[in-house]
Amino acid sequence: MKPGGPYGKVYVLRLGHRPERDKRITTHVALVARAFGANGLILEGVCDDSITNSILKVVEAWGGPFHFECGVNGRRYVREWKKRGGEVIHLTMYGVNLDDTIPLIASNSKPKLIVVGAEKVEKFYYEESTYNVSVGQQPHSEVAALALFLDRLFRGEWVNIEYEGWRLRLVESVRGKRVERA
Ligand code: SAM
Repeated sequence: MKPGGPYGKVYVLRLGHRPERDKRITTHVALVARAFGANGLILEGVCDDSITNSILKVVEAWGGPFHFECGVNGRRYVREWKKRGGEVIHLTMYGVNLDDTIPLIASNSKPKLIVVGAEKVEKFYYEESTYNVSVGQQPHSEVAALALFLDRLFRGEWVNIEYEGWRLRLVESVRGKRVERA
C-alpha cells in the first residue's frame, strides 16, 4: 500500500501542542502517523523547530513521502477539509466506540482528517467532526489511539508500505540489529 491507502489522503491534525511539555509526545504522534500509513501531520497553532527537525530527519533517513505543516488554524482547516468533500474523525474517549464506527469510516473512499488533542479539546471539534471516535472507554493517549485507529482503518496493510528515498531500512532479525543502507 501507499501512504493514504485506498482513501488517497489521510492526514492527522494535532491540536494543542505545548512546546514546553509536548515535544516527545507530538514527535511520537508524527512517527506513528508516518509509520502507520498517514500522508502527513498538520500541527495546529504553533511551530516548534524541534518537531520540524525530528520529522525532517526521520523522512531523510527512513523515507517518505510525508507532508508536514505547522502553525495552522485548526478550525479553518477542518471547515476547508469538509468543504472539499473530506470527513473529519476526532479521536476522543468521549466518542462512539471504534468497533461501531470503523465499518462506516473504512467503507467509504472519502479523504480522512484524523484529529487528536493534547489536553482539553474545544467544543468546536466535537461538533464539527463527522465522527467522534473512542478507542475503548478509558482515558489513555493520542499516540495509542492514533496507532490503533490507523491499524484498523488500513486493516494492517500499513506494514507493506514501501517508502521512497530511504537511506536506512530495517531487516528482520531474530537477534541483534540488521540495518540496510541504500
Ligand atoms: N479529555 C481527553 C479526551 O477527550 O480524550 C483526554 C486527553 S488525552 C491526554 C489527549 C488525547 O488523547 C485526546 O485529545 C484524544 O485525542 C486521545 N485519547 C485519549 N484517550 C482516548 C480514547 N480512549 N479514545 C480515543 N482517543 C483518546
